[in-house]
Amino acid sequence: MLLSVVTPMYNEREAVDQFVARLRPALDGLGAEYEVVAVDDGSTDATVSRLLQLRADWPQLRVVSLRRNVGHQTALRAGFQAVRGEYVVSIDADLQDPPEVIGEMLALARRDQVDVVYGVRSDRSTDSAFKRNSAGLYYWTMRRLVGSSLSDQAGDFRLMSRAVVTVLNSLQEPRPVYRLVVPSLGFSSGEVRYARQERVAGRTKYPLSRMVRLTFDSVTGFSAAPLRLATWLGLFSFLLCVALIVTALVAWGSGGVVPGWTSLYIAVLLLGGIQLICLGLLGEYVGRIYMASQQRPPYLIAHDTASPAPAETSVP
Ligand code: UDP
Ligand code: MG
Repeated sequence: MLLSVVTPMYNEREAVDQFVARLRPALDGLGAEYEVVAVDDGSTDATVSRLLQLRADWPQLRVVSLRRNVGHQTALRAGFQAVRGEYVVSIDADLQDPPEVIGEMLALARRDQVDVVYGVRSDRSTDSAFKRNSAGLYYWTMRRLVGSSLSDQAGDFRLMSRAVVTVLNSLQEPRPVYRLVVPSLGFSSGEVRYARQERVAGRTKYPLSRMVRLTFDSVTGFSAAPLRLATWLGLFSFLLCVALIVTALVAWGSGGVVPGWTSLYIAVLLLGGIQLICLGLLGEYVGRIYMASQQRPPYLIAHDTASPAPAETSVP
């Protein structure tokens, strides 16, 4: 049995030594054959050269280097397409997900014969209040869209069987959000709870802009409900308008006029706002269709320690 560990890294030079120092004993202790695939997501610091040095005395470490920064989820995709294991674990490189939990995940998957084991963050007290609250809102919303199969606070620390990874690798959608796609597939699953640790070194690679991007991808990837929202907003403002017309007619009939520019420009601005929001929403979906129809490779591999083939042949 081969266990594959996928770990995306973007400018993690400061964290990589400590990560390897904890990951290696955790995996050596499993008594199973394993490979670790570090996906360098276009790092501009010394992450890759350090990884290559570490590889010299850890042959199980494979380094797949992407040509440019494509983001966490797409880096995971590159990893999932590169690994060969019967079980695949994805884990962050900053030690926020404790590597010692991998053993528990594997044991659970084998004992209960489940296809997915989620790492569920039972304790996020080390995260900032902003991160905790925004994450809480995100999971609350997504549970409503994806359904109750989405376990609360399950991020990208999870173990999957080969069957699940095969399905993930066949997805055609642009920028799949794996933490939502996996529970939506309906494979049997279990969960392991763990306390989220503090980032061991370096800074977060998820600024607010990327969190917003992930949220847009999550919502548009799973539901057309926002488009329906446009219809409801339109219906609501139409009814409001009818009510106002009736009021104006009644006032006029009794000899008065409805005064004021205020009501006029409020109505114009309100409608303009609603229309622009709806256009933007529509644009999000059209954008996804456009990206999918272009069929560009989501990432390119610059080099891979496992295959000395020329880089341009390794288009996914
Ligand atoms: N990451 C990546 N590409 C990116 C951003 C992040 O591969 O463009 C990796 C990063 O190196 C880390 C994981 O994704 O291993 C999670 O990122 P981070 O810890 O910065 O996110 P946070 O835990 O703060 O949400
Ligand atoms: Mg982190």
